[in-house]
Amino acid sequence: MTEAHDVAGETRLLIDGKLVEASSGDTFANIDPTTEEVLGDTADGTGQDMSSAIGAARRAFDETTWSTDHELRRRCLKQLHAACAAHIEELRAVTVAEVGSPIALTYANQVDLPIDDLGYWVDKPVSYQYEHWLPERDVFGQPQRRLVRREAVGVVGAITPWNFPLNLNLAKLGPALAAGNTVVLKPAPDTPWSATVLGRIIAEETDIPAGVVNVVASSDHMVGEVLTTDPRVDMITFTGSTATGRRIMAKGAETVKKVFLELGGKSANIVLDDAPDPGGAIAVSAIGVCTHAGQGCAITTRLLVPRSRYDEFLGLADAMMASVTYGDPWDAGNLQGPLISAKQRDRVMGYIEKGKAEGARLVRGGSRPAQFDKGFFVEPTLFADVDSKATIAQEEIFGPVLVVIPFEDDDDAVRIANDSIYGLSGAVTSASEERAMAVARRVRTGTLMVNGGFWNSPDVPFGGYRQSGVGRENGVEGFEEYLETKAIALPAR
Ligand code: NAD
Repeated sequence: MTEAHDVAGETRLLIDGKLVEASSGDTFANIDPTTEEVLGDTADGTGQDMSSAIGAARRAFDETTWSTDHELRRRCLKQLHAACAAHIEELRAVTVAEVGSPIALTYANQVDLPIDDLGYWVDKPVSYQYEHWLPERDVFGQPQRRLVRREAVGVVGAITPWNFPLNLNLAKLGPALAAGNTVVLKPAPDTPWSATVLGRIIAEETDIPAGVVNVVASSDHMVGEVLTTDPRVDMITFTGSTATGRRIMAKGAETVKKVFLELGGKSANIVLDDAPDPGGAIAVSAIGVCTHAGQGCAITTRLLVPRSRYDEFLGLADAMMASVTYGDPWDAGNLQGPLISAKQRDRVMGYIEKGKAEGARLVRGGSRPAQFDKGFFVEPTLFADVDSKATIAQEEIFGPVLVVIPFEDDDDAVRIANDSIYGLSGAVTSASEERAMAVARRVRTGTLMVNGGFWNSPDVPFGGYRQSGVGRENGVEGFEEYLETKAIALPAR
């Protein structure tokens, strides 16, 4: 279905400033989710490679001026930003090919925006106030001067998923490096090139010192786990599933690592009965859930609609999902491409079967599209009359599947929205901003759209309540995640 595209990628790992093959000499295949064919190979990093990368990051942190030379970091981040911009078409091609992301989305938050957003971190090393004095105070009867100082945490293990890989690799490298840490980046096995190409750019086109950034791809998740147990690693920054996040937290406990987690979501879109533009409000979920085949953590995959306007709002959602064009991600007209893998496609199909078995009404889709003989596609799928306790209303599906749940009044909408182990994002729409804000304040979630507002920006903290995560990415809050706090006391002069 798709014509051949020239996507080279990068096979090599980056360890201690050198682009290298795996110590075993092994490689693993990078599969194109659209064609199911092999795009190329990537060095299959081993536990030994991971250990070498951690050793290099440790040395670079302990023995170079990286963490204290703020001007060096500013200059290196500026180079990295410019180099990524210069390689934007290569990164776009890699993203469409290995992620199966619709090319249209690469002009937004898959490629162009994250490269743009990297610019947000360039001046942070020099503009941030690392020290401040507290007022003098008597302690044990003696007047004291007290200095509060922020310092880099140390060696950061960055573990990323496959759905927005370039975005998340940069969202971790930007603040971690700006704050003065050294990093070992471990990408998902499904999307290694979104990291290894960055590794090559860093090695060849920036002055980032050897060991400051290491990139270790591997087909084996357990190679990533080495980061979570190695005592030389000070912090893990992880984006991925809640199940893996729990395991990382438990493993990190052995060496009391700082653990930063961006996990799954099952966000609710509450459209109140007086919504002035219900179409626009419903599109956030109905179109959103099809975009990139629903493989986004912050998508509002639960659409909560008032019982009084249930049929009308459900009809709007159905009509919108019917209009979604999907298929070849290289076609700029397609909003939805394939799922990342056969495993993920089968997982989504399993949820659809479960939804039917538990009594939800299948309004649209629910199958693998017959028109494609290759690729991990699933039809845009809409379920109505879903009980908030049903599996498809509770668990993250990570596919193009929307569930519609009716509510009685504002209190009931808030109750249903909060009836979740997650708390990542959400939306509220009403003709009355006051009413929408009253509901928004009661929803237990890290980000919210009110009346169509967008929170997506590098200066806005993003992250989850409850099992959607620990900590915040972006903004000053996101920068400070990568800093330790030291208090120094001196006798008053
Ligand atoms: P995943 O948890 O399976 O894998 C994520 C990464 O963790 C991969 O690099 C994987 O190799 C690694 N990993 C797996 N087991 C590990 C272990 N025991 N120790 C160390 N590393 C390990 O997630 P996924 O399937 O790649 O991504 C989809 C998930 O990511 C979804 O749940 C989605 O909601 C979540 N996500 C969250 C955000 C957010 O910001 N909250 C953003 C994007 C994706």
